[in-house]
Amino acid sequence: MVLFALQITAELENLTNLQPQGGCDDPEFTYLFKLKCQSCGEPTQKETALSLSESVPLPVGKGTTNLIQKCKFCGREGTVTMMPGRGQPLTEELSEAGKFAPLMVFECRGYEPADYVFGGGWKVQSLAGTTFDDVDLSEEEFTEYDEKGECPVMISKPSSTFVVLKN
Ligand SMILES: [Zn+2]
Repeated sequence: MVLFALQITAELENLTNLQPQGGCDDPEFTYLFKLKCQSCGEPTQKETALSLSESVPLPVGKGTTNLIQKCKFCGREGTVTMMPGRGQPLTEELSEAGKFAPLMVFECRGYEPADYVFGGGWKVQSLAGTTFDDVDLSEEEFTEYDEKGECPVMISKPSSTFVVLKN
């Protein structure tokens, strides 16, 4: 069992607290990324979609997981289980320092996550206090005008990384 932390960063202009719409443990927020089979090394062709609201019973033992998938090449089955409670919003401070914010932790058996894709369902606040809802980062850029702060706001260059956590 290996734990992978998905971490994100982006350039924030007059913005802070970038996070999923319903907070870091938003049950409806969808995570899109590819899976690489640890048996044969083949990556999945398409991104897999995971969310906290979708879970299935584990094939053995008790408990639930968020994904059970068979590798199309070698047939081995793997699971991905989301571990909420460890996410943090991406603040202006982290962004300016070039640091990443942890978003979600995934316990992977048989797979390794790769190539996270930014989609919709984000929220972010302006430094003047305006909240922007349902921000879509699939075009990797978001621009608006903040009436309260009387300034343009922008999210650009979103990037992500999966970091292996030691238990
Ligand atoms: Zn395989």
